[in-house]
Amino acid sequence: MRYPEWIWHNGGIKPWAEATTHVMSHALHYGSSVFEGIRAYATPDGSAIFRLRDHTRRLFASARIYEMAIPYTADELDAACHEVVKRNGLKEAYLRPVAWRGLGGFGLSADTPIDVAVASWHMGPYLGEGALTEGIDACVSSWQRFAPNTIPAGAKAGGNYLSGQLVAREARRLGFGEGIALASTGLLSEGAGENLFLVFDGALHTTPVSAALLNGITRDSIIRLARDAGIEVVERDLPREYLYLCDELFMCGTAAEITPIRSVDGRQVGAGRAGPVTLRLQELFFGLFDGSTPDRHGWLEPLGG
Ligand code: PMP
Repeated sequence: MRYPEWIWHNGGIKPWAEATTHVMSHALHYGSSVFEGIRAYATPDGSAIFRLRDHTRRLFASARIYEMAIPYTADELDAACHEVVKRNGLKEAYLRPVAWRGLGGFGLSADTPIDVAVASWHMGPYLGEGALTEGIDACVSSWQRFAPNTIPAGAKAGGNYLSGQLVAREARRLGFGEGIALASTGLLSEGAGENLFLVFDGALHTTPVSAALLNGITRDSIIRLARDAGIEVVERDLPREYLYLCDELFMCGTAAEITPIRSVDGRQVGAGRAGPVTLRLQELFFGLFDGSTPDRHGWLEPLGG
């Protein structure tokens, strides 16, 4: 992998190679980091960061759950995001703000200093070339999501991604594009790093935040775009077998955007390709970035400077 030249680290821009942390940092041992994934898109009016403030808000919410006091304001972190994209000369980018417990104590409850970095790099389709158009083959994971009141699924914390790694690695090892996890209730939860939408009779059905999932910003964008377009959206508990019965199925996330799922567990979903509701939502979502969907909610933040 070719790394970008610049990164923002603890208050300023520095060369990528200089953004290091100690091997005894708390986060490395105990998973005590919180992070975000954000995309910037090239639009006809220049580059824009998608829902930056909503991501920053979620970063602070994740930190709050773990009693981590991020030593910067939301405005400072937003400015860091803009700066690192510009310095790397990127028109389209994936951004990764991360805050972690650094060096300053080895006990679980140690109040270490909180280190912060923001990286940006070019990222194509997360689930592979062709995933957005052809769709992917998914499987239900043998690994469940964490139960309520164990590890909070609503925090985007480093440690949560041990679960995501088990789900994603098992899926890839078995030859699937992505894994879908069930909640501890046995009901559908989400993908390794994506939320889920099922389509029945033209209506969107998605799992509720009570199903041990991350309250995705893409999920929220899709719900709002769908409702704006008169498409019915239902948030509800969904049993596994509905994956085999729905007309259409897709995953969504900042990295995965809107990725159709053409089969689950080797069973074809609907017609085995992106259906009309999925295609319409892709059109509305990607239309935000080519100007064909009006930005009614003020989600596009022009790259400053
Ligand atoms: N669930 C999990 C577990 C994720 O890691 C992600 C990606 N952040 C999502 C859902 C989708 O969230 P978002 O749309 O905010 O990227």
